[in-house]
Amino acid sequence: MDDHALSHPGDRPGAAAPQPLPQPERPERLEAGLLRLRPPVPGPLGWTNSYLARDEDGRWSVLDPGLDWPPARRLWESAARELAWAKGAIREVVVSHFHPDHLGLAGWLVERWGGRVLAHARELPLIRRVASPSPAERERYLAVLRAYLVENGVPGGETEALLEANPLIARASSPLPRLEALHDGALFRFGPHRAVALWTPGHTAGHLCLHLPEPALLLSGDHVLERITPNVSLWPGGAGEPLEEYLGSLRRLERLPVSRVLPAHRESLDDLAARLAQLQAHHRERLERCHEAVARGPATAYELVFRLFSPEVARTQQLFALGETLAHLRWLERHGRIRRLAGKPGDPVRFAAR
Ligand SMILES: [Zn+2]
Ligand SMILES: [Zn+2]
Repeated sequence: MDDHALSHPGDRPGAAAPQPLPQPERPERLEAGLLRLRPPVPGPLGWTNSYLARDEDGRWSVLDPGLDWPPARRLWESAARELAWAKGAIREVVVSHFHPDHLGLAGWLVERWGGRVLAHARELPLIRRVASPSPAERERYLAVLRAYLVENGVPGGETEALLEANPLIARASSPLPRLEALHDGALFRFGPHRAVALWTPGHTAGHLCLHLPEPALLLSGDHVLERITPNVSLWPGGAGEPLEEYLGSLRRLERLPVSRVLPAHRESLDDLAARLAQLQAHHRERLERCHEAVARGPATAYELVFRLFSPEVARTQQLFALGETLAHLRWLERHGRIRRLAGKPGDPVRFAAR
């Protein structure tokens, strides 16, 4: 299993009230011939929005089929009955990113109803490891993760409890038969529509949004969500700049002609520009708060989690809170506003304000 398998969009860590599921048990008809199915996800997310569309030949495209979980499989089985799917009904399953609440059922779907699986090229290695991790790969990954926790100040006695508390860590995905890479700007069909693949890294390294220019729709995955701020985290071995990338991916959508956004969680939204501005403002504010928290005295990332969120961050949320805090610390460090303190070898990393 890969490091990124741990992240998902969370509500604010600590605010994990379960979401009541307004879940119709059947596909709902949306604009432009699109259908939406809401396979359930345990925990506060409640469900994933899967989008479906049928082309002129009667074959289906599916985006983000949801978590591999028995209640979600049952929902797909009843939808398939209603849509009279037989083997070969699916042309392709597109995956916005590799998180199990999106990718999970992709293999199971194409095994039953045919089709290939498409995702951004940078996501493919992550997808392969999540979909069929060997026990050795999983152990290797857990070792890397433990080292990351210790390096960032999680006390020795807490590391195992923190890993066990994570609800998505044990969630596997069904094996995937065929994978094809989409590159930024790739044109393909999504049902009857022309679709453009938009590479929008940040939430994950190879996150994709789909733009359907004709009906002016944006299928935004976890990149732009209503009410939820997608988790942007620095994970073990993360050499990149996830927050810088995420903010760049928000700016990239600013001029896109879009009349409606169909995200992978919660409800659709109409005003893309307004939501982009809110998300940018949210991160600017978090960066300032993070800087202030560091300025209160040198601290490890784990200590900063409790300064930034609440002192009672639930264990189930601590890993995401830590990853997110590290993404903000990385940004502040690269922009010269904080620095790392030199410590003895083996000491956790501590940060101080400049
Ligand atoms: Zn996600
Ligand atoms: Zn998600």
